[in-house]
Amino acid sequence: RAKASGRATYEFFEPGMAEKAYADLVLEAELVQALTRDEFQLFYQPQVDARSGALVGAEALLRWQHPERGLLSPDAFIAVAERHRLMLALGEWVLREAARQSRLWHENGLAPVPIAVNLSSMQFRLDSFDGLMARVLAEGQLPGAWLELELTERMLMDDISAVPELLHALRAQGLSISVDDFGTGYTSLAHLTQLPLDKLKIDQSFVAALPGDRGALAVTRAIVQMAQGLGLKVSAEGVRNEAQRELLASWGCDGLQGELIGPPMPAAQFESWLAARR
Ligand code: C2E
Ligand code: MG
Ligand code: MG
Ligand code: MG
Repeated sequence: RAKASGRATYEFFEPGMAEKAYADLVLEAELVQALTRDEFQLFYQPQVDARSGALVGAEALLRWQHPERGLLSPDAFIAVAERHRLMLALGEWVLREAARQSRLWHENGLAPVPIAVNLSSMQFRLDSFDGLMARVLAEGQLPGAWLELELTERMLMDDISAVPELLHALRAQGLSISVDDFGTGYTSLAHLTQLPLDKLKIDQSFVAALPGDRGALAVTRAIVQMAQGLGLKVSAEGVRNEAQRELLASWGCDGLQGELIGPPMPAAQFESWLAARR
């Protein structure tokens, strides 16, 4: 088992562990270079109003154009980046890049497209995360309302005492706060009602099981109702077919995101997607 130091030192070996550790070290070294070589890119996935179909936002999703392995999704490298604190630099790059794109879209006359950015727990636990956000907004010359921050339930439940104050500080900058992958974590509902939040994003595992699965039906509908009761917005991720869209819209789910609407796309392709839709 790895020691708490976070270094690649092991108390004992299990089959495959040495290979895994070695692969992680290679990946770590490549990740450091990737930042300086500008190999990261943000893709944007559209989010639309469930009733009107109008664009309401875009989620920024990180991609790595690896020199040999091609385009990599976050699942292939985020865990390693987190273990080696690289995620702080990478996360900061994501924020600045999203801010840059947001300003650009605004200047090019695209309808206001708030960009949702995923945060890692490492970033959120920074002492000065609200200070970092303030700098990113000031440097990018954009109001907080143009960005949305996506946090997971775990991030809200860790270090409970500090979270409400931080969320208030972020919202005071105009930023809005979404809970990502909602329903898969362990949020205390009592705690949830006390937090200054804006939106719940229903995890795609529930949406994927609609409309056939009774359990998914019950949970998804309950999340929509709970959000409404708490005065929060609610959106669904991973919407893949018309039956899912209809069901979610009929319950009053506010936003939809998923393959049925559009895949994650590079910025230029996102613009053509939007133009074709209009
Ligand atoms: P997420 O924030 O829950 O993002 C949604 C994921 O679902 C994305 O995967 C998206 O491509 C995928 N998706 C969207 N619609 C559909 C659909 O209809 N069907 C299916 N099968 N999948 C769909 P992606 O881009 O691979 O990202 C995976 C996760 O990596 C994200 O989950 C997020 O937790 C994390 N991530 C992505 N970008 C960043 C980032 O910049 N920073 C941090 N810290 N995490 C990120
Ligand atoms: Mg997300
Ligand atoms: Mg999600
Ligand atoms: Mg996720």
